[in-house]
Amino acid sequence: MKTALILLALVGLAAACRQSVPPIVADLLILNAKIWTGAPSQPEAEAIAIVGGRVAAIGATTALAAWRGPSTRVIDAAGARVLPGFNDSHVHFMGGGMQLDNVDLRQAPSPQAFANLIGERVRQTPAGEWVLGGDWDDQLWDPPSLPTRQLIDPVSPTTPVFVNRFDGHMAVANSVALKLAGVTAATPDPSGGVIVRDAAGNPTGLLKDAAMGLVNRVIPPFTPARRAQALTRALAHAASLGVTSVRDMGPDAGDLATYADFAESGRLTVRLSAAPSELQWADQAKLGIRRGFGTPFFALGAVKGFADGSLGSTTAYFFEPYADAPATRGLLADEMIPIEGMRERLVAADAAGLQLCIHAIGDQAISVVLDLFTDVANANGARDRRYRIEHAQHVAPKDFDRFASLGVVAAVQPYHAIDDGRWAERRIGPERIKTTYAFRTFLDRGVRIALGSDWPVAPLSPMLGIYAAVTRATLDGKHPDGWVPTEKITIEEAVRGYTAGSAYAEFTDHAKGTLAPGALADLVILEDDIFAIAPARIHDVNVRTTIVGGRIVYDAPR
Ligand SMILES: [Zn+2]
Repeated sequence: MKTALILLALVGLAAACRQSVPPIVADLLILNAKIWTGAPSQPEAEAIAIVGGRVAAIGATTALAAWRGPSTRVIDAAGARVLPGFNDSHVHFMGGGMQLDNVDLRQAPSPQAFANLIGERVRQTPAGEWVLGGDWDDQLWDPPSLPTRQLIDPVSPTTPVFVNRFDGHMAVANSVALKLAGVTAATPDPSGGVIVRDAAGNPTGLLKDAAMGLVNRVIPPFTPARRAQALTRALAHAASLGVTSVRDMGPDAGDLATYADFAESGRLTVRLSAAPSELQWADQAKLGIRRGFGTPFFALGAVKGFADGSLGSTTAYFFEPYADAPATRGLLADEMIPIEGMRERLVAADAAGLQLCIHAIGDQAISVVLDLFTDVANANGARDRRYRIEHAQHVAPKDFDRFASLGVVAAVQPYHAIDDGRWAERRIGPERIKTTYAFRTFLDRGVRIALGSDWPVAPLSPMLGIYAAVTRATLDGKHPDGWVPTEKITIEEAVRGYTAGSAYAEFTDHAKGTLAPGALADLVILEDDIFAIAPARIHDVNVRTTIVGGRIVYDAPR
């Protein structure tokens, strides 16, 4: 009797054990794929097992069959190409979502079409609201000419309009907006900006760089609901393009609050690492927020600053004058004046452990930022800083080696090269274009690159970015074999720049950017194998499935 009881108890215990220690099975299993892992130890694989949002195993389809259980979701990739999820190293994510909501002037082929589109939007705009966004491109007009308030006043008699050039470095206001902002013939140009004036000295409505602030400061702030709507649109757009992480540049407190709401409620389908303005570095520092602070979905700990303007607005800051505007060599940004103030803030931000990301486009702006980075390192001592120069477009030949020796990451956006490449030589001449968007030279000199889009300044699609880096074929079709072709990089180098490169540039390369056991399960399944097709077709490659943290966030309709 006693023995039987003990036996029963043992059987019961064994059963309990079987129940309490279930075999480990995958939540998601992707089989029969062509996986480019980005990991040197195992560059290619066929199958990947995902448990708890992370990669549990990666290898041959047969080897990973053991991970399959009754609850496992299985994707048969049928030979499709799989890559780590794309990490866009430079976006304005909320701005991108707003753009999806705003008037779209990007394709306006003429001043008349531009005015008509604004008129249409004015008719749909409730009283008191502004017409914003636009992203117009005067270079599409024949001949190119800058828009004025006189062009849009007839279609916007009572609605304030303030629409920006696609590069964000100039914008045109109608008379209603200028009046609300108090901008008149008597208003002086602010430092770092220009109020464009006609022969009589009256504002034409066009405001460059810091002068845009005169109008921006009177635009009412976006409501939380408006921000949530924009973020929702941005997330869906990113998921459809295989973008699983972004570095968000220059968000304000309202943007960050919206990101935090979405993170808390599990609605973020893109991992966001945010770099607010360096002017407010102390806001992060005083709470002890430093690089890598946050969660895998929402991180802070970096600051973004501006050293100059843009090539399109002739405000990028060069050593020599512009070829097509010899009276100017560009402008240093407002926050660089005086330079001692910038140096003090950067030294302090770095001492607090914040990562420094500085926008610099012209060769002298880049050179000055490298000087500042040298000063920061001298002041605070050696450390793994991962300095970033955003855009890094026009590099003086003498400065490439300084990127390498200071460990500066070039955070570059290849789409700008095939866009600006249509007219950049006219603007800066035949010599300076040789080291423009010099991705090949960066890599050859041992400089890390992190690829991105600058969305909404350029399209968010990583495929377009990779296509641009690999082909350098300008958008006008005039350089099918590449504009400054010596600066092309390979498809693999471009994919690496868009995955591991961007992860390194945000201090998350331990968890992202390559597919290996323990990594976050962020990946994309593509419709075509970008390594196998003709480079000219890369921009047509669509994303079939996007997975973030093991969760399918996009599945293309088939
Ligand atoms: Zn930007």
